[in-house]
Amino acid sequence: MNSAPKRAMVIVAHPDDPEFFCGGLIALWSKAGTKITYLILTDGRKGTDDLTIPPVHLIAIRRQEQQAAADYLGVKRVIYLDEPDGELKPSLTIEKRVVAELRRYQPDAVISFDPTRYYLGDFYLNHPDHRAAGEIAINALFPAVGSPLYYPELIREGLEPHTPQVLYLWDAETPNLWVDVTGVDETKTAALQYHASQINGLVTLGQQLREHQKTVDSAGQEMLREGYQRISLS
Ligand SMILES: [Zn+2]
Repeated sequence: MNSAPKRAMVIVAHPDDPEFFCGGLIALWSKAGTKITYLILTDGRKGTDDLTIPPVHLIAIRRQEQQAAADYLGVKRVIYLDEPDGELKPSLTIEKRVVAELRRYQPDAVISFDPTRYYLGDFYLNHPDHRAAGEIAINALFPAVGSPLYYPELIREGLEPHTPQVLYLWDAETPNLWVDVTGVDETKTAALQYHASQINGLVTLGQQLREHQKTVDSAGQEMLREGYQRISLS
């Protein structure tokens, strides 16, 4: 599947992860008519250094910001599993919840993190929740989501096995797919602005990430690209 999928699910750890890390591919697919669902595994309660903000308040703010960013990009729905931010670990409990949402919305394509990535370039130690989100997504995708022997109680709830066709892991060490996101750079940047509570902490990282994604095309023009490991599942 090289063209845009009909339905896609983005499985990440925190509000702001979709736009921050995969915003270019999401913008391209949304423009092409893909029905996109975000599955956000944690509540984002640790996304501040300001101890005067009560966690419940920050959780609510980040939901509003995430919904606004998703609306701007034309994303159809945002689902939260509300695990505590900073404490995400693979387990059968969270795997089952992810399997349930995959079976409910039946995406053709899934985007998540590469769980093997401890760092990015020479500027970023990857958040443990990102690695955990990637591992949870992979565990859910194989073999559980497509097998009637895994979580049969979900089948009794009407959630039949469903195997997506393809998985995209963001920023694999040696990507087998480079997506040119130059044309949607402004859209991605505008979507990120909705995460106002996070902007201060993300400015430097955002600039570094942008440098990381810059390259030069065959005509000598500067371009931005996102790297993925694309894995066929069915
Ligand atoms: Zn994150």
